[in-house]
Amino acid sequence: MQRHGRPPGLGVVLAGNNPASEVYVRNKLKTVTEAGCRAELFRLDVEASIDAALALVRQLNENDAVDGILVQSPLPAGMGADAEQRVFDTIDPLKDVDGFHPLNVGLLVQKRQALVACTPLGCIELLERESIPLRGKHAVVIGRSDIVGKPMAMLLLHRDATVTVCHSRTANLAEVARTADVLVAAIGRPAFVTRDYVKPGATVIDVGINSLTARAEVERCFTEGSRKRAQFAEKGSVLVGDVHPNVEEVAGALTPVPGGVGPLTIAMVLRNTVTAAELRKDRGRAV
Ligand code: NAD
Repeated sequence: MQRHGRPPGLGVVLAGNNPASEVYVRNKLKTVTEAGCRAELFRLDVEASIDAALALVRQLNENDAVDGILVQSPLPAGMGADAEQRVFDTIDPLKDVDGFHPLNVGLLVQKRQALVACTPLGCIELLERESIPLRGKHAVVIGRSDIVGKPMAMLLLHRDATVTVCHSRTANLAEVARTADVLVAAIGRPAFVTRDYVKPGATVIDVGINSLTARAEVERCFTEGSRKRAQFAEKGSVLVGDVHPNVEEVAGALTPVPGGVGPLTIAMVLRNTVTAAELRKDRGRAV
């Protein structure tokens, strides 16, 4: 990290006051700072216009001390339905630590990636660290979002898995999912993937993070006397993934929620910040 004479710098843009975003941003800033990088938070009011957001991103593009830019989703509804896309399109692709810029998405598709979306990258890191084989295996990704499902499918494909992408219109979803050696759930629906979706011994990556506040839902997900039920009684909410916790009984391996994909996503923000600093340094040399 000392090689370039200064630590890598990350600029994080947080617009509005979404409580989950506050937590995500705090964790990202903490991790990046603790690792020795410089991180700065730029806040925009919930009433801020899309033009204000774009102007801030352009400023950060020009700011030499900022190597990486991350704009936390979701943006306030008042910025318009296409606000996120407009913001991602405006970020300098070399500073795009989220990997959402169309240029970086294209490079990923062509397997020439440098900056790749952090959550799918974190999932791959988990699989590789656990030595889960991917070559020739059937990977099923449930979810086709630009930030998780699609880049996840590409990364698995590039590791020689045979990949099926499922979504809300997929027919016989449980049946398809049951053919997976590696099943990735990125749906945004609490405990959606139940035991009948999982082949015994399969590896299951749970990307979902859902907060449960309804007692019936908590009772559907967690057994009586469990730590989660006690937590719900105390706090009035608990987190659950997109995978039902009892999938643990059939899966060969299952990532926990919280504590699985989430921390790895943040670790990849750090990795991408360092990569972005190196990319800019290389560009500086090339100019
Ligand atoms: P999204 O809403 O953009 O996409 C959800 C996808 O799920 C869609 O492609 C949709 O087709 C599919 N889907 C919805 N209902 C379905 C159904 N009934 N059957 C099959 N497919 C269905 O969500 P996203 O941004 O991809 O996020 C997915 C989940 O991952 C959310 O819970 C989100 O909070 C979580 N997430 C976690 C992290 C992390 O760091 N762990 C990062 C990003 C997202």
